[in-house]
Amino acid sequence: MSYYDVLIVGAGHAGAQAGIALRQMGFEGSVAMIGDEKEPPYERPPLSKEYFAGDKSFDRILIRPASFWPERNIDMLLGKRVKSVDPVGKFVTAGGEEIGYGKLIWCAGGSPRMLTCNGADASNIHAVRRRDDVDAMIAKIDQVRHVTIIGGGYIGLEAAAVLSKFGKQVVLLEALDRVLARVAGEDLSRFYEAEHRAHGVDLRTGAAMDCIEVKDGRATAVLMADGERIETDMVIVGIGIVPETGPLIAAGAVGGNGVDVDEYCRTSLPDIYAVGDCAAHENHFARGARIRLESVQNANDQAKTAVAHILGKEEAYHAVPWFWSNQYDLKLQTVGLSIGYDQTILRGDPATRSFSVLYLRAGKLLAIDAVNAVKDYVQARAHILSGAALDPAQLADASIPLKEVGLA
Ligand code: FAD
Repeated sequence: MSYYDVLIVGAGHAGAQAGIALRQMGFEGSVAMIGDEKEPPYERPPLSKEYFAGDKSFDRILIRPASFWPERNIDMLLGKRVKSVDPVGKFVTAGGEEIGYGKLIWCAGGSPRMLTCNGADASNIHAVRRRDDVDAMIAKIDQVRHVTIIGGGYIGLEAAAVLSKFGKQVVLLEALDRVLARVAGEDLSRFYEAEHRAHGVDLRTGAAMDCIEVKDGRATAVLMADGERIETDMVIVGIGIVPETGPLIAAGAVGGNGVDVDEYCRTSLPDIYAVGDCAAHENHFARGARIRLESVQNANDQAKTAVAHILGKEEAYHAVPWFWSNQYDLKLQTVGLSIGYDQTILRGDPATRSFSVLYLRAGKLLAIDAVNAVKDYVQARAHILSGAALDPAQLADASIPLKEVGLA
């Protein structure tokens, strides 16, 4: 059986950062990364943005050049999927082999949730999670005129922006009464709905779909609950992910929606850490609620926390959450978590396409969504960290820089 001092499962954002951090922090032991995709770690956000749009080649979205990993003496075991974990014998099985570990960092992310209705297995129904998903869509995009996107979260909206730029007829179906309902306040949702409609997207909220009409294995229409038939050449599903934790949970790790970790990213199993999209942690910015965060920031910062702990440094995970989304010429930047807000303040005029939405609780700033408003994004962070109650009238006055806003 081969053996590594540290074995990283998952060669995505968190896995890559764990490998990078181990060597940056001076770890000299043996390290391997097992990933079920064939590529070395690459950035996932461009899959629904610049890579999908053809503005960035695959080489430009690699997290590090392919040569980086062997140069750092990190073995890349790619195209292999970990099937099971033995926390007593301290080995995993992957590709028919047993691989032993001293410490295991589980960075397996999540898999796209797919439709379960009739017709859900048609060949032209796609997720946007992996390079292969996007390459499969790009390969046939010239034959596609009508695209139906199911789900009005960030990935669905970003895909709609790219496809409408390509001149496709896009219908976007959101089951709830507004897009981004899970992550943003109503001001932001309505702004993005209007933007997409202005770009020709047939965006529908409260949309109840029934099933997919399939001919010769291909989806030809989305059938709605009210009997409407939406003709389609391609369907994109963006309805969230299911965390990839199966082997860990089967091995006895505590978890539910993700695998539970403590402030050092330790699971309940000895010498096994979990990091990134799959890790359910008590987040300081969610007032201690156990949540999973699906962001590059969280994957990177948790990876550093786990590695520091492996190297004997107890640095609890308290990183400020941040996120971004690019749609058309709009750059949305978010900092903080809006979970549990009791007030929103609109700062600036959405009609100018540069404004922010502030989320407060008991007068204290929890989070900001800044659209083409980089100064607000940068200056909000200090207020979010201070936890002080702020003057609401000044917050709403875009002529006052956020950093100059006084206390309530
Ligand atoms: P991943 O990056 O998904 O990596 C997990 C890896 O593990 C994958 O390669 C997976 O195939 C592999 N794996 C799974 N199970 C196994 C197994 N059993 N054995 C071996 N390998 C396994 N975040 C932002 O902050 N900003 C954005 O704008 C943004 N846009 C996004 C756009 C898209 C289209 C997507 C899909 C995500 C986006 N995200 C964005 C989210 C961000 O990419 C994720 O939060 C991040 O990739 C999480 O990193 P991770 O390492 O936890 O998971």
